Amino acid sequence: MAMRTPTWLVGGRGLAAQAQALCRVVAPDAATGPFYVVLRPDLPAEYQGGEGGALALTSRHLDLMLRPTLERQRRWRGRGPTILLDPVAIAADAGHRPRPSRRRVFPAVAVGVVLHELAHIVITGPRDDEVEPDPALIQFGRLSLAADLTGTEAPTNGPGAAVPWRGHEWPFIRIALYLAYRAARLGLDVAARDVFDAREYELSPTHRYVLALGNEPEHVAGRPITKISQVPPPTEFVELWQADVRGWMSQHEITHELPMTLAACGRRISIPTAGQDAPVMQKGTESDVEGTVQRVGIAAQGS
Ligand SMILES: [Zn+2]
Repeated sequence: MAMRTPTWLVGGRGLAAQAQALCRVVAPDAATGPFYVVLRPDLPAEYQGGEGGALALTSRHLDLMLRPTLERQRRWRGRGPTILLDPVAIAADAGHRPRPSRRRVFPAVAVGVVLHELAHIVITGPRDDEVEPDPALIQFGRLSLAADLTGTEAPTNGPGAAVPWRGHEWPFIRIALYLAYRAARLGLDVAARDVFDAREYELSPTHRYVLALGNEPEHVAGRPITKISQVPPPTEFVELWQADVRGWMSQHEITHELPMTLAACGRRISIPTAGQDAPVMQKGTESDVEGTVQRVGIAAQGS
């Protein structure tokens, strides 16, 4: 199915609907029921302003946090994966890209970040058995989200974070590369690096991960994206990731603070659910907000 790429994700009122359609077309099995893309300018005042935020983000409970906005927009159809997209931040990021690619940058950046968040949704998996959190905890999540967006908290992953590659381990990278491949096959003008720029996470360049994955995406083109993890990955691909992490570890002092930082990151903007308490959340198996950290103005924070 071909898509009219020049008119896709060019901004404006249709952006949220276009992004939702993109997810349903590229990964139909990951977006079967309700699936929401919400634009940051459509959120209430407490989520606006500040220097922080991300180009896009998702979290396991983002639908509940943004439910008031979805209800106001008459879009709420029940729980479902949700992506928050910031078109202003995307435009700012696109403006910093090299001039030769400027013409295509907004759509490419927008498609890239939507597919990046979609990869997080695929990795997180379905939540069929989840009990809805307490309303007070949802409200706490909203406050955390507002703090994150308005920049009063440091990033938990990506550029500027203590552990930039956190939440972007090889299973994530593999799905991200699959989504880039499938989107390109559908005619979208998007490169693997638009979906996951590994250098931003202090890993080897994206093209090395593409090379290590080889022709696997082509070989299993017919397999649903949610079933890819059942296929053993190429050894070379996993080895590249492991070598990258070993290299990163050797360049960073490993102290008792690192596990603490990882644990703290694991609690960011996450809502404990029934039967779970904080120690369980610290294992990092529950997804918190996994944003595509805004590249503009983040470098000053260091890592
Ligand atoms: Zn991410």
